[in-house]
Amino acid sequence: MPNIKFVKVEKNYQDNKFNALQNINLLIKQGEFVSIVGKSGAGKTTLTKLIYAEEMPTEGDVFYGKRNIKDIKKKHLPYFRRNFGTVFQDFKLLPQKTVFENVAYALEVIGSSTDAILEEVPKILSMVDLLEESDKYPNQLSGGEKQKVALARALINRPDVIIADEPTGNLDYISSLEIIKLLLKINELGATIILATHDEAIVNKAGKRVITIEDGKIVGDQVKGKYVI
Ligand code: ADP
Repeated sequence: MPNIKFVKVEKNYQDNKFNALQNINLLIKQGEFVSIVGKSGAGKTTLTKLIYAEEMPTEGDVFYGKRNIKDIKKKHLPYFRRNFGTVFQDFKLLPQKTVFENVAYALEVIGSSTDAILEEVPKILSMVDLLEESDKYPNQLSGGEKQKVALARALINRPDVIIADEPTGNLDYISSLEIIKLLLKINELGATIILATHDEAIVNKAGKRVITIEDGKIVGDQVKGKYVI
């Protein structure tokens, strides 16, 4: 599993006169749990998008292992992105599909066999404690349950890295804690976790590395809090 490295990264969006990111130098080691904290507009999403090559740096370089994301050919991007599982604030579930089908779909699109799907999906759903909800549709689930489905879908391909961008943004406190706990569990199983959030209080409970960004710059990088959740 590769490290993630940012070297002197700047990011400017064309229609924005401000730098979304400025002089970002960062090493995230394989297997780390890293939170990226900052206000809305600070640059958290931009930073995460550079990691899975959804955006390209304007200056500087982003590496995944030895691979510079600038050198990945467009036709290879879908394969490159299989290294990453992503989770977002708005869940992005398919409303016409059941919980089982939403997770299975991630395997179908990469051509997995029916046997593999029938074996893998229940395993992952039981890991996020949703096996009993397999046949429900997203609109029959709570926000916390929807996010667990999204997490199951992100995990199903066994990616090396999970990127969670404001995964608790639509959740109440108890459900948010459950999602953070699950991310900690997934991290213990070996995946690198990158959690972008404005919710400093919740990551301060995780006892893990917290990188603070303000106006596109890193202004803090330390292990915070105690592992209390
Ligand atoms: P955060 O995730 O911390 O809210 P973002 O990375 O989304 O921050 O945004 C950082 C800055 O870049 C903001 O000023 C935002 O308006 C700008 N920005 C983000 N995406 C785009 C885009 N696609 N086009 C133009 N500006 C953008």
